[in-house]
Parts: sequence; C-alpha cells; structure tokens
Amino acid sequence: MNVRDSEALAAILIGKGYTPVEHEEEADLLVFNTCSVREQAERKAIGKIGYMKKLKKLNPGLIIGCIGCMAQNRGEELFHLLPHLDFVLGTNQLHKLPEAVEKIVRERSSYQALSEDPHEVLAAMKGHLPGGIFGSIAITRGCNRFCSYCIVPYVRGREVSRDAADIIAEAESMVASGCREILLLGQNVAAYGLNGDVRPPADDCSPFAELLEKLCRIDGLQRIRFTSPYISYFSERLISVLASEPKICHCYHLPVQSGSNRILQLMNRQYTAESYLEKVNRIRSLIPDCTFTTDVIVGFPGETEEDFQQTRDLLNEVGFDHSFIFKYSPRSGTKAAEMPDQIPAEVKEERNAILLADLEKRVAEKLKNMPGTLQEVLVEGVSKRNSARWSGKTGNARTVVFEPDGGELCPGMLLNVRITQANPVSLFGKIER
Ligand code: SAH
Ligand code: SF4
Repeated sequence: MNVRDSEALAAILIGKGYTPVEHEEEADLLVFNTCSVREQAERKAIGKIGYMKKLKKLNPGLIIGCIGCMAQNRGEELFHLLPHLDFVLGTNQLHKLPEAVEKIVRERSSYQALSEDPHEVLAAMKGHLPGGIFGSIAITRGCNRFCSYCIVPYVRGREVSRDAADIIAEAESMVASGCREILLLGQNVAAYGLNGDVRPPADDCSPFAELLEKLCRIDGLQRIRFTSPYISYFSERLISVLASEPKICHCYHLPVQSGSNRILQLMNRQYTAESYLEKVNRIRSLIPDCTFTTDVIVGFPGETEEDFQQTRDLLNEVGFDHSFIFKYSPRSGTKAAEMPDQIPAEVKEERNAILLADLEKRVAEKLKNMPGTLQEVLVEGVSKRNSARWSGKTGNARTVVFEPDGGELCPGMLLNVRITQANPVSLFGKIER
C-alpha cells in the first residue's frame, strides 16, 4: 500500500513540475513514506531519516518530510527526535504534499497535518507513473477490523471504498498506457463496497466480486490480483467469480496469523483453524490449480508450545507456497500490547526459526516439481540482471527468465515457457510457441 501511495504522490509531484532524481544526494526534496505495523519498521525509518542530517549540511535548502503511518502515529514527537525534519503528514493528508512543500519553501517553518477524514485522499491518489506492465490500484483505505495486535485501524483510520466507476476509469487509463496486470489493494480488500460493516457478507453477496467482474471486461488487461483479503469475506459468490474469470490469477494471499483457536480469539480474528481450512478446501475444490500464501505471527501474548504447534501443523497442512512470518511486536494503544504473558524475545526467535525452516523445506519440495512444467508468462522486458535474457511473471507471481527465440517478443505479451531450472528467486525456461 505504501509503494502504491508513493507512486501516486510521485505522479502528483511530477504533474506540478518536479523532476525525480536517481540518488538522494541530488535531491532538493526527500519524502519518507513510513510504516508502523511493527516497531522495527519505525526504527528503520527513524534511523534512515536521521542519517539524512548530513545531506542537509551539504545542501541547506534540502526539504525533508516524513509521511504515512509513523507520521500519523508519532506526530509532533518526530520533530523532537529528528530536528532536521521539515514536515510531517499523516495518512489522510498525503495528497497535501505539494502544499506542505510550498509552505515550507515560503515560510521556512515546520509543518504538520494529521487528519481523520479519508475522503479527499481517496479521491486524490489516482496518478500512475507511465510505462509499467504491472500496476496497482488502492480500492479501499483504512480498516475497521481491529485485530487486537494491529495498529493499522488507528493510523489509517476507518475503512472507506472507492466508487467502482472511478476504479474502472483508473484501470482503463492504465491499460491504455501499456499496463497488463493490475494488483488491487486494500487492508481488507474483499470487504470492498460493504460500507465498513464488519460482518462478513452472506454467501450470495460480494460487491468485491462485482467489481472484479467489471474489471475483467477491460480489453487488453490480462491479469488481476488482489491483496490482502480476509478469509471470512470469501463468500460463495466471490469464490465462484474467482473460479470462472480466467483473468483473475489463481494465487491467493490469505493471512492466517495463527493455527490455535484460543490465540485466534485473543487476536480478535473472526474464524477458527477449522473454518479457515474449510474455506481453503472449498476454494481448492473449485480451482484445483490454485496456490496460497499467508501471514503468520509467532509469540503473540500467551502463545504456548501447544498453540505454536497448532500453527505449525496448519501451515504444513495447507502447504502454503510462501508465508510471511512475523515476530509479534507490541504496538502501543492496541489491546494485545496490554495483555499478560508477553512472550520473551528468545522464544519468538526460536519459533520464527522453526517456521522458516519448515517453509524452506516446503518451497524446496515445490521447486523440485517445477522443471518440465509449461508456464504462461506475462512478459515484462529485458532481464535486469542479464541483458541477453528477458523476464516475465507466471500467474502465481514467480519470475521467469528466458532467452529470446527470434520470434515476436514484446513487453505485455503472454507466452508459454517450458521450465528447465528453478530456484527460490527465479525460474528459468525456454519459450514454446
Ligand atoms: N490487512 C492485512 C494485514 C496488514 S498488516 C490483513 O489483515 O490481512 C500485514 C501483516 O503484518 C499482518 O497480516 C500480520 O501478520 C503482521 N502484523 C500486524 N501487526 C503486527 C504486530 N503487531 N506484530 C507482528 N506482526 C504484525
Ligand atoms: Fe490489521 Fe486486522 Fe485490519 Fe489487517 S484486518 S489491517 S491485521 S486490523
């Protein structure tokens, strides 16, 4: 979401006549778009912005801003921590970036804006940088779910959805300028269009599915993905659209967080390990070639060895293609930060290492089966690592590298590639026409 927000802001600034530069040393304006999900993310951002002090010594006119979730979360405090900071803009003020910069240039005083109203920012963040085969669109902002460990609802505010017509127009204009694959973004993307109601929809209801169907009708758009959905919102209506629309990629990122029902309840997640598995199996029964990825937290307050074992078992049972494993990080203001039985760092570390080892084993197994398979690849262009080769992506987002075969080859086309070699980062193969 931050990458997408940064792109929209870059487009706004370019529209106002600013020019992007390659290296931070050359810039007159540096903007840090920050994350607060874990303490580590905030620590990194503060470290990096702190380091910029030396650039300000070399270029006293340099303007430095901090925007996004940490800006919203820490506000005024950031000016004390980072005295060389010129401005702070919260999550719903991002689109005011040009105004903030102009004010600093005029008045040379620090500037801070933090607000709760998401509607303006929702309407303003539409621009894209030209030339990409892969693009993304934020279809919702904010979150209403209040999982007990999570800071997002506090820093990004209440959930709002964009108008379908607006999203379609944005997608059409991206496709007109060469984009072939769109990633739809939202904290709880499948809750799109439910007006912030936290009750998962009935089985015959899914405004998100309706939006997907409309996007699938756009000529020239080859692939659609989305992240992150919340499993309880996978109604039958949504699953049937995922199964019947060939443009929607068959890989789903379904954050599970834990395999222990006791912990899931403490996390305020609205499903059990059993109901999660049931949905996964339902999706698999209709879309047999689909793959799943997930997010999981180890060391949530009170997590026992037995709870952890249940998480491990669930991850192995689903057989995720990839999992993002997070060590629980207490976020001030959230319920879980106040819970008893906080888990010591060494235990989190140990559980993290166990899940990582399981993941590596699983990934290695899956990669063994890749050579010999035929993959449909969306061609991106000449490979960044080796200009004699080209690269593209499979439907489940793996990078494929291949050599030109003398036939027609251009960014944005779909090609069949026979896989010859596989490693965790890329697949290698030969074009088959
Ligand atoms: N809205 C998405 C998640 C956004 S945050 C969803 O619910 O699916 C991305 C991931 O960060 C979460 O899925 C969770 O696994 C992790 N996360 C969030 N808060 C965390 C915390 N306090 N400590 C550790 N990991 C956390
Ligand atoms: Fe955080 Fe839960 Fe909302 Fe995801 S659904 S952003 S984990 S509160």
